[in-house]
Amino acid sequence: MMLERCLHCFATHACELRYTKKGLPYTTCRVCRTRSFFHSEEALRGVAIAPVVIEATLRQVQAGDPSVGWVPERTAQLKNYVRDTMRGNGLPGLPEATTEPVPYVDAAAKERIG
Ligand SMILES: [Zn+2]
Repeated sequence: MMLERCLHCFATHACELRYTKKGLPYTTCRVCRTRSFFHSEEALRGVAIAPVVIEATLRQVQAGDPSVGWVPERTAQLKNYVRDTMRGNGLPGLPEATTEPVPYVDAAAKERIG
């Protein structure tokens, strides 16, 4: 089943709902290449509704509706948060970014390493 919009990159008609061999539903987008696996029927509520809400909201953004001025602002905030977290900026004590994954939490002790 093809979704109207990707829940992640908002690409149109690029995100598809599929099933794993074990019958677990997941979405995959051929534009952003994101795969999201859903472990409960409750998680599918967002998959059903979000593309419609995204479509309507993006139409409002394109029309310059001030009531959705938060959309580009919130998108930029999340991008900056992820970028800063990955680089260790803004969060004192986090290690510098590396080319290889490095755990920064000791799972057994549930404490940050370093
Ligand atoms: Zn996508």
